Amino acid sequence: MTAPDPTDIDAINDFVREASDPPPQRVRIDQVILQPDALLAFEHAIRETAGGGRVLLVQDHTLIRRRGENLKERLHDIAASCGPVHRVELQDEHGPHFHADRGTAVRLAKTVGDFEAVVSIGSGSITDVAKYARHLHAEDTGWTVPLICFPTAASVTAYTSALAVLTVAGVKRTLPARGPDRVICDLRTLADAPRDMTQAGFGDVLARSVSAGDWWLANQLGMDSGFNEVPIRLLADAEQRMLDCAARVPDADMEAVAVIMRALLLAGMAMSIARQTAPLSGWEHVLSHFLDLTAADDGRNEALHGAQVGVGTLVSARAYPRLAQVDPRDLLREMDPAVVERDIHDVLAEYCASDALQAEVRSDLQRKVVRWNQAGAARARFVDRLRDGSIAAGLRRYVRPLPEVEAALRASGAPLTFAALRPAIPEKTQCNAILHAHQIRARFTLGDLLDVAGQLAAIQP
Ligand SMILES: [Zn+2]
Repeated sequence: MTAPDPTDIDAINDFVREASDPPPQRVRIDQVILQPDALLAFEHAIRETAGGGRVLLVQDHTLIRRRGENLKERLHDIAASCGPVHRVELQDEHGPHFHADRGTAVRLAKTVGDFEAVVSIGSGSITDVAKYARHLHAEDTGWTVPLICFPTAASVTAYTSALAVLTVAGVKRTLPARGPDRVICDLRTLADAPRDMTQAGFGDVLARSVSAGDWWLANQLGMDSGFNEVPIRLLADAEQRMLDCAARVPDADMEAVAVIMRALLLAGMAMSIARQTAPLSGWEHVLSHFLDLTAADDGRNEALHGAQVGVGTLVSARAYPRLAQVDPRDLLREMDPAVVERDIHDVLAEYCASDALQAEVRSDLQRKVVRWNQAGAARARFVDRLRDGSIAAGLRRYVRPLPEVEAALRASGAPLTFAALRPAIPEKTQCNAILHAHQIRARFTLGDLLDVAGQLAAIQP
């Protein structure tokens, strides 16, 4: 069955229902528009949603041009032609770049109830904060304020996802939220976005090349019971088309941007129906989260999420063949919480100034240790299957070979190494990322498996 277009929500939900029994969560978005000029569709969405009532525009202060014109002013004027409009500009307390943190969403949640509709105008951070604020307000009051999402770059999978990735106590966490009701993608705006943002979007989808393998491995090892192939199949065609047009990403023409945006939209839906980010977020993502976590201590800004994820994807694709060198007996051993604690202690002390952050990381890590130690029977079965070759065979379904991943990322013009990221990652942090990134999140990934098997030190950043 060919997966449908991301703008056809009914067909997507039919696909999801027919592909799996019991079906995963359905996609709860009313409308996805993807048009060369979607400004009229934006106006209709506001009229239909707010019905002339008050509209809240959520954005940051980044100037965005569309055909040379100030996009946010234009969208404001369109919204104002439909009824009263209020604008909130989210700002970072610590620096010039806005970061999506839970506190900002909590504050925003207190105001969204005053409006008939909320519109997020921006990329991942703005979208995630708006999604989560609307979700918190709904939890509190039982009333869900309609949310319209207007993406300004084809840079992340956040736009259609029902999850919000926000900083909690200094570390990135995925929180349950709800996808927007409408997503209005204006290809002109997306094509006019900075090229590195489009390349970042390419990297965020490319992650699937390895992350689905991590998810399957976690399932086989008894570390994740939620594995489901449907999200991966939903994205497969769009993902392949995106890889096929990798060489056109540097030009970022409207057609290439449309191909990337389709993949990003479906990727967000894939995570929503899985009820977790795991289909597109494995070791490569936690490597990126580690770079975010350590940025302040290094005295650098965070690079674009998808750019970091692209590099992480290449690291992971390079590391996958090392599974062949794993001694199965290492997987049968339990983890000693005290040894794990000793191993992470110095890194936490170096990079994580606040006690709250250290506690957050430790509690996630210890949950993973407990689960590993309880999953002895699953690990024993895994070892048998590792020996008879069926793990390697299974992984071929979910992991792209390194040459494919490397060629695609290279053709897209995105950074290939940590040192090529802007700003560049210091060498010491690169090494620490390889050795410790997997320890900052409860999810089990390839990094954990290679660590247990004593293979991580051999991975080049
Ligand atoms: Zn991502």
